[in-house]
Amino acid sequence: FLAASAVREPKLKSFMLPPDPDAVRTQAKAIDAKRAAKAPLGKLAGVPVAVKDVLCTKGVRTTCSSKILEHFVPPYDAHTVERLKAEGAVVFGKTNMDEFAMGSSTENSAYQVTRNPWDTDRIPGGSSGGSAACVAGCQAPVSLGTDTGGSIRQPAALCGIVGMKPTYGRVSRYGLIAFASSLDQVGPFTHDVTDCALMMEAIAGHDGRDSTSVNEPVPAYTKTVNDPVKGLRIGVPKEFFGQGLDPEIEASVRAALDEYKKLGATLVDVSLPHSPYALAAYYIVAPAEASSNLARFDGMHYGHRTAKKGDLIATYSKSRGEGFGPEVQRRIILGTYVLSSGYKDAYYVKALKVRRLVKKDFDEAFASCDVVMGPTTPSAAFKAGEKSDDPLALYLSDVYTVSCNLAGIPGLSMPCGFTKTGLPIGLQLLGAPFAEEKLLRIARMYE
Ligand code: GLN
Repeated sequence: FLAASAVREPKLKSFMLPPDPDAVRTQAKAIDAKRAAKAPLGKLAGVPVAVKDVLCTKGVRTTCSSKILEHFVPPYDAHTVERLKAEGAVVFGKTNMDEFAMGSSTENSAYQVTRNPWDTDRIPGGSSGGSAACVAGCQAPVSLGTDTGGSIRQPAALCGIVGMKPTYGRVSRYGLIAFASSLDQVGPFTHDVTDCALMMEAIAGHDGRDSTSVNEPVPAYTKTVNDPVKGLRIGVPKEFFGQGLDPEIEASVRAALDEYKKLGATLVDVSLPHSPYALAAYYIVAPAEASSNLARFDGMHYGHRTAKKGDLIATYSKSRGEGFGPEVQRRIILGTYVLSSGYKDAYYVKALKVRRLVKKDFDEAFASCDVVMGPTTPSAAFKAGEKSDDPLALYLSDVYTVSCNLAGIPGLSMPCGFTKTGLPIGLQLLGAPFAEEKLLRIARMYE
């Protein structure tokens, strides 16, 4: 993987910080020594795992692909990184992302644009584009990403791999630099569903350092992943097959549903009547939380401080103006606006009400089905630069992914075909809260 990584990196630009060969070899030797001593080895002994640069790594630079954190070296590991290391995994570089995870193409990184391994003129999706591209491009076998509004599932779909967003609270957010705390979750990118089950087993579980981490036992996902779900009922929401969906994507997703029928599943029509409002609600809730979370980057507590002289307020605003890129600034302005007195009820509070209705739609749908299926994205990977001048067009790529985060439910994207031009297409599976085990089994049936 070190060799493959080095060869492909100049084209793909998956890594913010490429794996350090010496550090990787030292860790690999430590595992060999353990094996020789017949000491117990973890589930991921010797497996290289690339980590999105939004997750803190002790003693290793963590930038969120932002200028404001260019020189930030965390003094501790994120919970998920701790868990990987405890299972013997080798941290294999930090991956490029949209700055502070805001974006859907990885073009908002302050440093570089990651490319899609299937066609390097195209974007890999985002915001975890580096984590998706490095697995799809075989620079690493597995990686970690984060999903606030689709940032694992959307790049997994566009890069033709498996990506999972766990139930909110299933995986600890400790050491994940917050974007929108009520939506953020950490999850894996893998080549197949079995690897996804293994990664989930390693990272899921209670952690007292994240107050939203849920104390529920973690099922042995790898033990059951090969058991098909008998009498499977698949909910097909008409709202996921409407205007704006590329016909080639629709055809592939419908073909996958037919495959499931051949495997004995029943398709059930379900309705998610509030999903047309989910995108608008998401783009209020997420920026609102971001504007609050990003207040700590003020040039005093963390990160870049302006060289220009001035009083306290001028230092804050100059440091932030120099350190944050245009999309991050846009989100902060949007977020402070929707939270401001006089507008809060019209925007933020209204969006929270919509969020509740989106969740209710799913609760009702899961009364009559085991899983909701549809496309992950409305179209396949687009060309780099195609949407960079139009933030709204970019936001629309998240139309099928944001509901899952608003509702806090688990979601998975897996490959289900290709466009005529050879670009991967993703099938999205959404489950009831804490139904990861079932979701993985259902995904594995199709694979
Ligand atoms: N594309 C969405 C956004 O820009 C989702 C990002 C994410 O999931 N981190 O906010």
